[in-house]
Amino acid sequence: MSVDTAGSKPLSNSKIPTETCSKSLGESKQVGISTLAVHAGEARQKPTNSITDPVVMASTFTFENTQSIIDFIENDQDRGEYGRYGVPGEKVVERKLAALEGAEDGVLFASGMAALVGLFNAKLSSNDEIIFFDECYHRSREYCRKHLSRFGIVTRQVKTGDYDAMEAAINSNTKMLISESPTNPHLSILDLERFATIGKKHNVETLIDATLATSYNIQPITSGVDYVMHSATKYFGGHNDLLAGVVLGTAEKLKEVRALRGVMGAINTPHNCYLLERGLKTFEIRMERHNNNGQRVAEYLENHPKVSRVLYPGLESHPYYEIAKQTMRGFGGLVTFEVAGADWKQTARVVDAVQLARIAPSLGGVETLIEQPLVMSYWSYTPEERAEFGISDNMIRLACGIENSQDIIADLGQALDVLD
Ligand SMILES: *Cc1c(COP(=O)(O)O)cnc(C)c1O
Repeated sequence: MSVDTAGSKPLSNSKIPTETCSKSLGESKQVGISTLAVHAGEARQKPTNSITDPVVMASTFTFENTQSIIDFIENDQDRGEYGRYGVPGEKVVERKLAALEGAEDGVLFASGMAALVGLFNAKLSSNDEIIFFDECYHRSREYCRKHLSRFGIVTRQVKTGDYDAMEAAINSNTKMLISESPTNPHLSILDLERFATIGKKHNVETLIDATLATSYNIQPITSGVDYVMHSATKYFGGHNDLLAGVVLGTAEKLKEVRALRGVMGAINTPHNCYLLERGLKTFEIRMERHNNNGQRVAEYLENHPKVSRVLYPGLESHPYYEIAKQTMRGFGGLVTFEVAGADWKQTARVVDAVQLARIAPSLGGVETLIEQPLVMSYWSYTPEERAEFGISDNMIRLACGIENSQDIIADLGQALDVLD
């Protein structure tokens, strides 16, 4: 098969290698991201001869006779058995996501949180310790602090970007180092190679939650990270119409994760798998637009007199701009900003004044979403806790969709004007 590479622009420092396509596309052909997004993981000729994958609505799969069950078990055949252990459409999505990530394998879960819980539960035992960079999704932190602790697993947190503190916190019980990149909502960027090297030096596995970047903007596995996790609910699904999550890595490392998923049952329905497969077809062109919109909106806000601070890794003013520029293809659709001199109510007035953006949590879909983190995610937290998490009263988080940037900008402009 001949496929051109026009769709893929390699990073200038070539930290993102040209992708190798999956088996079904032909071994070791170098193809572009969109080509992978459209074709990878799929059988060229499908059982129904349809160009799209069939949605197989079945919770159970039949065997012709007793011998075929024995053959299935003894030869580890790739076929359906019972839905909790995997459905046909799920494999396609797993292979597609693995191809996009440059990973050997991926395990799909019912949500990003299910993926994280699945990985932790498969890999950790009592007395084990994990170390987080502290800027992270508040539910991930909650799972570790409230629930893993009940099983005797210790969670330590160090300041994001303080690699020396992370290394110093490692002891003989440490099993995993964890970070997001970019973090949410501060958009701090990790030096992935440095992070991976600390893990390797101490024989501790590393995990990056790359939800905000996606495999389009960063490729942690290429930098030596062991596991990459994504909430596929966000950019991979891309249409605000599904929840899913994935953990990617080597097949060997993911073996126990896949086995545990079959027991815990956090699987996707055939229809959900199909929605994700369909959403992924336009992954690269959506990411290009999200990146472009994020950059333009951030530049606009940075020059707006009613905005006191903009956090966006593609701005020179961002504390992690240099490392972002070196390691990322683009900087994503999420832009965090603070309204100059506003209290929480004045900030809420800006949010309430938008006409195009929709007021909602989440990110990564085609629709632009806006929220005030104080209200949306931290309303029940004390002011001290919010300060600890760096959530200010006048902070707004904007998740740029794929609308035209001038319209998103015009909408923000008229919303900020309510403060006159
Ligand atoms: C949304 C999100 C999650 C959780 O994913 P769900 O699909 O909502 O369970 C985890 N990490 C990050 C960075 C997220 O944005």
